[in-house]
Amino acid sequence: MDNVFDSIIIGGGPAGLAAAVYTARGKMSTILFEKAVLGGQISITHELANYPGFFSANHEELHPKYLIDQMEMQAKSFGAQIEKKTVTEVRLNDKIKEIVTSDGQVYKAKSVIVATGAGPRKLGCIGEREYTGKGVSYCATCDADFFTDLEVFCVGGGDTAVEESLYLTRFARKVTLIVRKDYLRAAASIIERAEQNPKLEIKYRTNLLEVKGDGAVESARFLNNETNEEWEYKVSEEDGIFGVFIFVGYDPVTKLFEGMLDMQDGFIVADEFMKTNIEGVFAAGDLRPKMFKQVVTAVSDGAIAAMASEKYVAEHFG
Ligand SMILES: Cc1cc2nc3c(=O)[nH]c(=O)nc-3n(C[C@H](O)[C@H](O)[C@H](O)COP(=O)(O)OP(=O)(O)OC[C@H]3O[C@@H](n4cnc5c(N)ncnc54)[C@H](O)[C@@H]3O)c2cc1C
Repeated sequence: MDNVFDSIIIGGGPAGLAAAVYTARGKMSTILFEKAVLGGQISITHELANYPGFFSANHEELHPKYLIDQMEMQAKSFGAQIEKKTVTEVRLNDKIKEIVTSDGQVYKAKSVIVATGAGPRKLGCIGEREYTGKGVSYCATCDADFFTDLEVFCVGGGDTAVEESLYLTRFARKVTLIVRKDYLRAAASIIERAEQNPKLEIKYRTNLLEVKGDGAVESARFLNNETNEEWEYKVSEEDGIFGVFIFVGYDPVTKLFEGMLDMQDGFIVADEFMKTNIEGVFAAGDLRPKMFKQVVTAVSDGAIAAMASEKYVAEHFG
């Protein structure tokens, strides 16, 4: 069939890239669309220490970008096409699926692998949206440098919040971690490192209520949820700005598929072969409702989705 890909992959995170390696290696004509940066969520962190086989005594080489670059080259070496485009519309119900990108182009495929992953969850405090990029950030690796020798507040109580707070202590003068509960939900080894870091203060039972300023974040209002007392942090004239990093989890990026693919709390439901409720459409990675969201599990999903889609295309298109 002319101009019909065997496989279209939406999303170039670990799941989508792994899927592309497998479909292309299986001689399926493959095109992958990525709207932002290849690597997805892992590209916003600075270290990947738990991916099997990705190890070096030299820390530089543990940067996730190295792994992602390798995946990209591997997929391309087998013939996969990788395009920097946002998918804006999907038509999945017919046997030949149609995918529309932001430039209005329509691509056709015999099978589709959805791997759009997850994005940072918003905290919901006053001023959060207005000051995003003006002091409020969701990515320490991207923005830490802006706050060199300044004060930084981080919000969250999980592994990512603690790890990223520790990372920020390398840049900021002081980091205060704001934790809603009276404990951290992080690995004991990470908590120990946090407690021993002289630049990191942890404030438990505290909520961030509001950030405000004149063009950039200059003050923040907090609530001690145990005593109900409010307090405010105001930046000094000398500093002019401070950072507020929010690490309160990730939501699935699945809006595009609402009303088409079965979902559970916004996560796309798929079976053990990554098949969704629509024939020929597979879902892989963090957008599935699963307990452990890691590079290694995303990559596994991608490989399974690719092999299942290969079988589907062979059976239905001969
Ligand atoms: C700060 C941080 C640290 C982490 N540290 C680790 C770690 O140390 N070890 C580990 O194993 N895991 C870690 N993780 C988790 C890991 O990054 C994720 O589990 C993994 O990236 C999930 O891969 P994915 O491909 O399913 O989704 P994602 O990585 O979310 O990738 C999805 C991709 O799809 C793209 N996309 C979305 N919508 C569209 C569209 N409409 N059109 C085109 N493209 C689209 C996005 O831009 C994105 O690139 C970390 C995550 C974060 C946030």
